[in-house]
Amino acid sequence: MTREEEIKRRRTFGIISHPDAGKTTLTEKLLLFGGAINVAGAVKSNKIKKTATSDFMEIERQRGISVATSVMGFEYEGYKINILDTPGHQDFAEDTFRTLTACDSVIIVVDSAKGVEAQTRKLMQVCRMRKTPVIVLVNKLDRIGRDPFDLMDEIEKELQIQVCPLTWPINSGPDFKGVYNIYRKNLSLYRADIQSITEAIDFEDINTPELDEQIGSDADTLREHLELVDGVYPPFNNEEYFDAEIAPVFFGSALHNFGVKELLDCFVEIAPSPLPTKAIERVVKPMEEEFTGYIFKIHANMDPNHRNRLAFVKVCSGKFERNTNYYHVRMGKKMKFSSPTAFMAEKKSIIDEAYPGDIVGLPDNGNFKIGDTITGGEELHFKGLPSFSPEMFKYIDNADPMKYKQLAKGIDQLMDEGVAQLFTLDFNGRKLIGTVGALQFEVIEYRLLHEYGASCRWTPMNMYKACWISSDDQEQLENFKKHKYQYIAKDKHGNDVFLAESQYLLQMAQSNYPKITFNFTSELV
Ligand code: GDP
Repeated sequence: MTREEEIKRRRTFGIISHPDAGKTTLTEKLLLFGGAINVAGAVKSNKIKKTATSDFMEIERQRGISVATSVMGFEYEGYKINILDTPGHQDFAEDTFRTLTACDSVIIVVDSAKGVEAQTRKLMQVCRMRKTPVIVLVNKLDRIGRDPFDLMDEIEKELQIQVCPLTWPINSGPDFKGVYNIYRKNLSLYRADIQSITEAIDFEDINTPELDEQIGSDADTLREHLELVDGVYPPFNNEEYFDAEIAPVFFGSALHNFGVKELLDCFVEIAPSPLPTKAIERVVKPMEEEFTGYIFKIHANMDPNHRNRLAFVKVCSGKFERNTNYYHVRMGKKMKFSSPTAFMAEKKSIIDEAYPGDIVGLPDNGNFKIGDTITGGEELHFKGLPSFSPEMFKYIDNADPMKYKQLAKGIDQLMDEGVAQLFTLDFNGRKLIGTVGALQFEVIEYRLLHEYGASCRWTPMNMYKACWISSDDQEQLENFKKHKYQYIAKDKHGNDVFLAESQYLLQMAQSNYPKITFNFTSELV
């Protein structure tokens, strides 16, 4: 196969949902179709369940599961599919945001009874920001759910995207009969007692009496619904889907493996193959000859005695080859990788080559930071790996005077992994850790102790938000910094950050200093 063909057959995507909507179940069914796993139950949920006693070993064990399921690759009908797993727990939302930057498209799972939930709305914002093509699966049709037209309205409103149903359900719950595939013009009948897939019946013309024979009195309702669908929603258009203007919608029951094959077959056909990636210097196209890639995730090894980490590289162009010299742009030096790994289903194995769209795991002992670019030699800096404004803050202090160095090193490396963000206050040099969730503080404390032998002490700080500040008007910026000197800090890259104690104080600052831009995300480059 030529390099072009390899690239074209790749589909790299993420599945996002609010916890419990069915992401793990769908992932597992997709892997079953790909023959990547043989039995149900092989895919472990990456949900971090916080126990009442803050069982740290449990968190560690669960982190182990999440490295195993970070990337799941499999072959299906000539396509190479890479599913990038996104932590469902909202305390790990930053990790999810970064993983989304490595996805060429996304499947959103929505619970048919609950509709669009908070976490889905939040993750969709990231997709919208990056114009990532999305497909929606309305799941759990075997349970009584909401009216499909209501759900379509809600998805349009809440996710701010025009929907385009490609399948349509016939009832839900005990009366669920199946789905009509609008895209392929056929009907799949649901049988609660059978787990295997039944053959779809073609219906070019839904007005034939045969439809009544199949689904009885529901046939007329289906015809009415389809007429409405036809009148209300735009026809499917690949370009609009690529531009993230419309979202194709599917209905099904992941648990009963129903509607999943329809989704997968359509997905491989319409979803984008690897897309160009923006760098500061230029846009990099996947078909380019030279290898380029960037690190979007770093995962620490489970073994505390070996501080090895695995850096996840998204291949953006060319071809990645084992034992070849590549250029680590930030460090300005050449590096060779003797044991790059790829992820097939839940297994990890050493590979010789990888193509755009693929994710390669590079064993690392501290050379990489999130956002690092590797190339064949070109000075390139990929953009778009966002850092989000944290919402919880604690001062971190050394609790063991003998271990000062260990603490500093531990903090440094954990921040490189993107576990949380470090801010150093300008006026007194105190270190402040900002996170998006409370669980991270526990993870940091635990890992500092077990991996670096360092102890820390936390002092909570009541803070509303940290935002990055910049301005073309240097005088105003300097004035502001002087006036608010107690609340000015530097992030890890030396950028100015304003720590706002309340929403009110932030609004005041914004109106008093109109020439200053207050940013709630910063791009790591
Ligand atoms: P995740 O948190 O989004 O990964 O959700 P899971 O895949 O772990 O599913 C949450 C729960 O919903 C589990 O108990 C699943 O068995 C159940 N579930 C998933 N899909 C379906 C479905 O189609 N129908 C029904 N009835 N239950 C489902």
